[in-house]
Amino acid sequence: MDHPRRNFLQKLVASAAVVPLLSPYRALAQADRASTGSHQGKTLRVALMGLGSYAARVAEAMQSCKRAKVAGLISGTPSKLQEWGTKFGVPEKNRYDYENFDRIKNDPDIDAVYIITPNALHRDQAIRVAKAGKHVICEKPMAVNAKEGQDMVDACADAGVKLLVGYRMHFEPKTLEVIRMRKAGDFGSISFFQGLCGFRIGDPDQWRLNKALAGGGSLMDIGIYAINGARYMVGEDPVWVTAQQTKTDPVKFKEGVDETIQFQLGFPSGAVASCLSTYQMNHLDRFFMTGEQGFAELQPATGYGPIEGRTHKGELTQPHAMHQTIQMDEMAGILLDGNTPVVPVDGEEGLKDLKIIDAIYAACGTGRKQELRLG
Ligand code: NDP
Repeated sequence: MDHPRRNFLQKLVASAAVVPLLSPYRALAQADRASTGSHQGKTLRVALMGLGSYAARVAEAMQSCKRAKVAGLISGTPSKLQEWGTKFGVPEKNRYDYENFDRIKNDPDIDAVYIITPNALHRDQAIRVAKAGKHVICEKPMAVNAKEGQDMVDACADAGVKLLVGYRMHFEPKTLEVIRMRKAGDFGSISFFQGLCGFRIGDPDQWRLNKALAGGGSLMDIGIYAINGARYMVGEDPVWVTAQQTKTDPVKFKEGVDETIQFQLGFPSGAVASCLSTYQMNHLDRFFMTGEQGFAELQPATGYGPIEGRTHKGELTQPHAMHQTIQMDEMAGILLDGNTPVVPVDGEEGLKDLKIIDAIYAACGTGRKQELRLG
């Protein structure tokens, strides 16, 4: 159990660091809402499912949210329900386990469930949440293949709830500035994107190295940032992919768990991307894009920040804010007000990445170029 004083100090330091940095973003967001008149003042009440390391980060970040709050907890570990319930002020009646969470249907205090469990559990959990009539926010990868992703999209459509994927980079200010510049034509026509994503993974017994829970290896976990990033940086959906896999440690990275994959994407405009996904190398978190008239570089590109970057016009200077704080406030706007984000975060967006992941694995297996129809 964490030391309560250390928690308090961490919270104090985190909020002191975040508040002044957030203010320019918030000022913009508030001005935007004031101009559209869309802010109803409602708060998105979120139940977190799977109280692991990333959920802890999300829960802390949500303490600084203006429009979203932790209102429920779903866990298989009773001691976490107790500890987190006390820490985040979630009453016992809004705490659930994996057997009884369908009862959330009758819980008027919950608007959405944020699924932050191992990848292979997402599909069934999302379908149960949808059937309970609550909006679904699901961590990446949305599922372990496109078929399961489609099941989730269909279940949410049938239930009349929204499905969002935890693509926090879609709200990150420097990333959005590069996207704005690309749309404004500052780079000219885009010719090339490079995405390098990886880290050396530790404990060989963790679920990320278990195919049954992870659905794959590095590509599912970290390579997806390069796939998704290629799409939002270039601003197109790829039409073909080729891929090659290498494995230096077949004991740690068992059958179906990829260690290192290089893949190449081709876009309708003729732009190409070259990407690396790995669990075996450190210091890989870099996006580079070049066009006829300029370039953009983000490094780190997808870590928790601060993101750093530059273009041919100079350094990117947008202020850092906790990604998950911005994400959850923006998701509140999407779910409660029907706002449209600059880069989509819906189930169709998650499904596109899963179709590319399926094709990358097929390309590794066959050695052949795979045509993509993401439509
Ligand atoms: P953790 O292992 O830290 O936590 C997962 C939690 O899921 C566990 O603590 C447990 O919580 C619950 N759980 C339920 N069933 C199982 C099971 N069979 N095995 C293990 N855990 C189980 O993982 P992370 O928090 O790092 O990752 C969770 C999800 O979040 C993944 O999909 C991952 O890709 C994504 N993620 C996204 C990030 C981002 O930046 N967007 C960053 C990190 C992760 P409990 O005891 O409460 O049931």
